Amino acid sequence: MTINKCAEKLLAWYDHNHRPLPWRQKVNIYHTWVCEVMSQQTTLAVVVPKFSEFVKHLPTVYDLAACDEEKLRQLWSGLGYYARARNLKNGAKFIVEQLNGSFPQLYHEWLKIPGCGPYTASVIASICFNEKVACVDGNVVRVVSRLLALSDDVWSSSGQSAIQTHVAQMIPDVRPGDFNQAMMELGATVCRKSKPLCLLCPLQEQCQAFAHNCIEICPPKKPRHDAVDVELFALLFWRKTADTLAVANRTKGFLSNTFGFPLIPAIEASQVKKVLQSLQHLQFELPSKFSHRITHHRISGKVLVAQEVENLSITTESVAWQKLGLPQDFYWVSRSVIASKLSTALDSKVFKLFQNYQDKAS
Ligand code: SF4
Repeated sequence: MTINKCAEKLLAWYDHNHRPLPWRQKVNIYHTWVCEVMSQQTTLAVVVPKFSEFVKHLPTVYDLAACDEEKLRQLWSGLGYYARARNLKNGAKFIVEQLNGSFPQLYHEWLKIPGCGPYTASVIASICFNEKVACVDGNVVRVVSRLLALSDDVWSSSGQSAIQTHVAQMIPDVRPGDFNQAMMELGATVCRKSKPLCLLCPLQEQCQAFAHNCIEICPPKKPRHDAVDVELFALLFWRKTADTLAVANRTKGFLSNTFGFPLIPAIEASQVKKVLQSLQHLQFELPSKFSHRITHHRISGKVLVAQEVENLSITTESVAWQKLGLPQDFYWVSRSVIASKLSTALDSKVFKLFQNYQDKAS
């Protein structure tokens, strides 16, 4: 067995400096999988408490596979990108139904699990089964770019596969999972995006960017795509007597496959208002706007509240709902608990505007 100098130093550093995260206490395949999926696009500060809550309520892959949508949404709220939870559950169902509840072991076997991509597969295969496969996330790209003083494009697909090759060459035969975790940990805590702590770095001697004083340009900045401006209306159907609001499984448009308030393009707003008017629902626009950014879209939005009138219930069968082409899967949720059930930051902003408006009105 061989272990290169970089790996040796990195592992020694990791043994004494890694953060004691809940899923690191003992190797557990299910926990590793859940925490990896949660950590994609969500900060650790948010993930840690949500992870503990999630595995407390759904302690095994069988529990996750059998979990109903409502409970899953609740356990995922605050983490964003709800599609990840759905994928996780689909993967759990596949493992329970097709593999009799046995987790795969090898990287290429994990790739066959619905919703499991190369990154997640490499994390599980290396951490839980010691497979020598490289994990490359944004932190690892940064560390490798600096170690090798790479100031060319590392973000394109060819750049990413070059980084993958570099990491694969560095990864030792012993403790490949710990090595991967150590690279990610170093990027997250020492080789930070700004103000890296080079004086504390175990790889300082090997680092080309440090030696040549070019850390700021390694890696180069990610190319930015121009954002497109989008105007939306969020529809709040409000049953005032019960103080409940309607939330739906959005099936199309922005934030499709997430749970929240129906969203309509601003261009269709006048038509929607006409429909509501013809059906005698009270309606009013909130005076404040919300703004939100989703990948390459800069959203500005208004909130249209449609108040249910007596003897004219809003249901999926109601003419209003049909005419507006709104999602069929919707629920009335009490205002007192709705905040914990909204799955996206945009919906939380919309709800906050409504709350503020109500507070001022009362
Ligand atoms: S020496 Fe500095 S720039 Fe180089 S890997 Fe370490 S922390 Fe990163």
